[in-house]
Amino acid sequence: MKRIGIFGGSFNPIHLGHTTLAAYICEQGMVDEVWLMVSPQNPLKQDRTLLDERERLAMSRLAVAPYHTLKASDFEFTLPRPSYTYHTLKALRKAYPDYEFHLIIGEDNWNCFDRWYRGEDIIRETPIIVYPRKSESTEEPVLNEQFSTSVFQLSFLEHPPLLPYSSTEIRSLIAQGNDASHMLHPNVARYIEENHLYSDK
Ligand code: ATP
Repeated sequence: MKRIGIFGGSFNPIHLGHTTLAAYICEQGMVDEVWLMVSPQNPLKQDRTLLDERERLAMSRLAVAPYHTLKASDFEFTLPRPSYTYHTLKALRKAYPDYEFHLIIGEDNWNCFDRWYRGEDIIRETPIIVYPRKSESTEEPVLNEQFSTSVFQLSFLEHPPLLPYSSTEIRSLIAQGNDASHMLHPNVARYIEENHLYSDK
């Protein structure tokens, strides 16, 4: 059965930190493919600078083009909003019954998993891959006590390549007229420039 890692985010815009990590997870053999799930609206994040989802998807497709193991997905665009991960996983399993879906999340998200909509059901049904957000972090993920009996399969990614990039920083650099291309796939940098994204000009 093909194993698909689901890596969700706003990807506003997608940067080399995202693609490097996703490609590494495939190289480690933890899953066969990673689908970068472009989120139309994150229930935990209110962001006024959130770019149109079609544009974020277009950039994500450019960024994953060099990797045969990575795909940028618009699957959540057709689902009811807000796009809760529980609903997304359920819909994915229905749409692709021959695939096994794994959820990839940062340890920051894992640590607040009790705030996730139906978090306990997610971990009962879905293998979870947790990765550290800081390169010096080597701690195994702490399992929230209330969930400890129901976890199905939990893997911790040790020493992944973590690039210290963030979409917020990229948006802010561009808005100030500075260059952020070192953090972006060259085609994404060109797309942003040609479409005057994240800048007032
Ligand atoms: P923002 O700065 O707008 O909050 P972001 O750079 O954190 O964005 P998201 O689109 O929120 O990007 O990220 C999607 C997923 O990628 C999240 O789970 C986030 O934890 C993770 N992520 C963000 N930056 C990195 C990075 N540099 N390396 C690895 N993972 C990252």
